[in-house]
Amino acid sequence: MYYPMYYYMDPTYLLVLAGVVICMLASLKMKSTFRKYSHVRNHSGITGREAAEQILRRAGIYDVRVEHVPGNLTDHYDPRSKVLRLSDATYQTSSVAALGVAAHECGHAIQHATGYVPLHIRGSLVPIVNFGSMIAWPLILIGLFFNTGSSALFLNLGILAFSLAVLFQIITLPVEFNASRRAVHILGGSGMLYEDEVRATKKVLFAAALTYVAGAVSSVLQLLRILMLANNRRN
Ligand SMILES: [Zn+2]
Repeated sequence: MYYPMYYYMDPTYLLVLAGVVICMLASLKMKSTFRKYSHVRNHSGITGREAAEQILRRAGIYDVRVEHVPGNLTDHYDPRSKVLRLSDATYQTSSVAALGVAAHECGHAIQHATGYVPLHIRGSLVPIVNFGSMIAWPLILIGLFFNTGSSALFLNLGILAFSLAVLFQIITLPVEFNASRRAVHILGGSGMLYEDEVRATKKVLFAAALTYVAGAVSSVLQLLRILMLANNRRN
């Protein structure tokens, strides 16, 4: 029982806690920014769905469907089925925030249509990362707490699997920032929003991007912690 106790009491756990706090702060910031601008109606009165459809047509994309998806902030673009799904607060709402989110998801559809490389890399990593995330912790725990000849091998494989998940979160950052940049650019030139409304959507999208940065930072901190534990184990 020595190792498990040591594991839970160890000071490297502070790295995990720091990650949790960073993610919580980013999420609070995102929710409050979104709430604020989801109450600001855009001057043209168009909904997230209408904006998405217009943006896609203007980009010459005719094979992407815009659908409604239940939930809060569940908006996403699905490249496999070429469907852009907008949540309750985006689909039929004509707020400034709704247009920002809709345009961001269109940004992903445009990335897909134009063969944007980081999106492609990210997509091809998904199956490996899913498998890696599933096996990483069991391997790491076996490696840390069992004193068998192959512990080191388990530990190293676990670290490798975990690193893939970290890599995935890092490659997500350029994909997200690029989609938001495209969104702001499109909205700015579309006439759908006034300049001050575009500035507001920029704030919403920046706050959303922060949650991805927080997620990546938090997983790097976790990896750092695992590396420190592995180092202690080896000594
Ligand atoms: Zn996105």
